[in-house]
Amino acid sequence: MSCLFCKIIEGKIPSTAVFQDELGYAFADLHPQAPVHVLIVPRKHIASLDEAGKEQSGLLGHLLWAAAEIARKKNLTNGYRIVVNTGQEGGQTVDHLHLHLLGGRAMTWPPG
Ligand code: AMP
Ligand code: ZN
Repeated sequence: MSCLFCKIIEGKIPSTAVFQDELGYAFADLHPQAPVHVLIVPRKHIASLDEAGKEQSGLLGHLLWAAAEIARKKNLTNGYRIVVNTGQEGGQTVDHLHLHLLGGRAMTWPPG
């Protein structure tokens, strides 16, 4: 499997771990778009949100909880944003489902 994030999860490519448990792994984004920019990924390879089936809805909820937990631990008390880029027009560039946690600055709306 030549998936970048699978290799990061396996430790074959270095990353700065932020959170991990049996279902997910979170690490600092290499090109941060905010003072806090963390990627939360399932350990199991799922190509995108569009590829996640109903049987994975619990896992999706767990990843969302993990993102909120990381935000609390990083004291993002003024708020933060969770983004899941999906597919070509969604701006997804790595085909392993991931949540972006962005915080530490005011976000704009709508996103570009
Ligand atoms: P997306 O564009 O939503 O698919 O997000 C992919 C993210 O992965 C981007 O924000 C990249 O900066 C990030 N990224 C790419 N390679 C690495 C890496 N080796 N370690 C950490 N983050 C990475
Ligand atoms: Zn993968």
